[in-house]
Amino acid sequence: MPYQDPYFRLLIEHSSDAIALVSREGKIVYASPAIKRILGYSSTEFQKINVINLINQDDLVLLTDQIKTLVENRGKTVRFQCRVIHKDGTWRWIESVSTNLLDQVDLQALVFNFRDITDQKEIELRKDEFISIASHELKTPLASLKGFAQILVRAVQEAPDPEKILHYSLKINDQIDRLAELVGDLLDVSKIRSGKLELNRERFSIDTLILEIAEDMQDITPGLKIETSLQANRQIYADKYRISQVLVNLISNAIKYSPKEQKIVISSKAISAGIQISVQDFGIGIFKKDLDHIFEQFYQARNKIRKSFSGLGLGLYISSEIIKRHGGKIWAESEKGVGSTFFVVLSIK
Ligand code: ADP
Repeated sequence: MPYQDPYFRLLIEHSSDAIALVSREGKIVYASPAIKRILGYSSTEFQKINVINLINQDDLVLLTDQIKTLVENRGKTVRFQCRVIHKDGTWRWIESVSTNLLDQVDLQALVFNFRDITDQKEIELRKDEFISIASHELKTPLASLKGFAQILVRAVQEAPDPEKILHYSLKINDQIDRLAELVGDLLDVSKIRSGKLELNRERFSIDTLILEIAEDMQDITPGLKIETSLQANRQIYADKYRISQVLVNLISNAIKYSPKEQKIVISSKAISAGIQISVQDFGIGIFKKDLDHIFEQFYQARNKIRKSFSGLGLGLYISSEIIKRHGGKIWAESEKGVGSTFFVVLSIK
């Protein structure tokens, strides 16, 4: 049989995809060593198990149909995806391309070529989830806008009351700001993804910028004390607008995720690599398992808490891309229930 040929055998055994040959009787007659990496079983172990038992019930009906089509059509190639349980008990998404070569005298087998696509699937699922969150986030201010606009029309038609009109006009203004912010984030992500996020660098004092932003944010958040300890004492050469965006994002998060009336401490200092900024809060904190992922696109620290805070989960992704474009570093340290500190390091040149 050709799979006994040493040359082809070597090729198959070193392929990153796993290959299994299944006889007319449904018996696995060969499984390549890559199976170990993909599903945890050695080739011999795999040949002995009933593979059907490893497949997720929800995928089984479709899969059985596909295999039936495959078996009944000589020479046919069928592609399918299904969830298979790994020897370690975790579910893996597997993609298989299988060909009916039962008629090939030398082979007489169904050839299953398969690979692990779990990571890819995870990204797809996150994209779907993201689209649903994004639509929801855009719909909420739109619905409020519609409501406020209707009230305004009625107020003007009935008995024009300047105070009422002013009140609802301000509300409309707030909702428009919120929409503009969401759309702005989406546009930034698209710029980042297409490599079109341009930096307009200028020289400015980082301490002055932080102080201005901290004062503005303090004005709109009277319930919470924003403290500053600004000792960088340096001019940096960076995109002031984009760096402000990062600072506003970090400070708004610190405020947003500090449900109790707490304080926030913003510090800056000079270090050998340039300057280091930190934004510390004493809020809800972040689970260790989420900490490595909060800067990723489409990652939401998925927990019940997430539902009670609005946001697209894009702020940190955009911030980290801005800092990376500057050649700097951004990271977070956090303890659940104690608080979080976000750090930014930027060179001064
Ligand atoms: P958003 O706040 O819109 O969800 P971000 O990208 O700004 O998006 O943050 C991503 C996630 O990181 C948040 O959903 C939240 O779970 C977590 N996070 C960010 N900053 C903090 C913080 N200061 N404290 C606790 N969790 C935070």
